[in-house]
Amino acid sequence: MSRRRSPSEERAARAGDEPSATLGPVRTCVGCRARAERSALVRIVAGAEGLVLDERAVLPGRGAWLHPSRDCWERAISRRALGRALRTAADPASNTLREQAERLMDNS
Ligand SMILES: [Zn+2]
Repeated sequence: MSRRRSPSEERAARAGDEPSATLGPVRTCVGCRARAERSALVRIVAGAEGLVLDERAVLPGRGAWLHPSRDCWERAISRRALGRALRTAADPASNTLREQAERLMDNS
């Protein structure tokens, strides 16, 4: 009665075995400058189209980390911390990033 699993299913099964509840990698929020676990922050990267919210933290390139809170977002904007962290002149308040961020913050 046992069904053979494909290699990708095997990999998925193993990935589920990884140890949890340990402290993950820590990043600094560009808004409030507090350090927090990666999983508690959202990643923002400078892409070809400007700044984008990298919700799953999978995009290549330099990233900036931010709490999904309005407070940290406003602070990062007013201090131009995103541009500095990402070494880009792209304006985070003038493209789709703001929309994405608003959506994320509304959920929190
Ligand atoms: Zn923060």
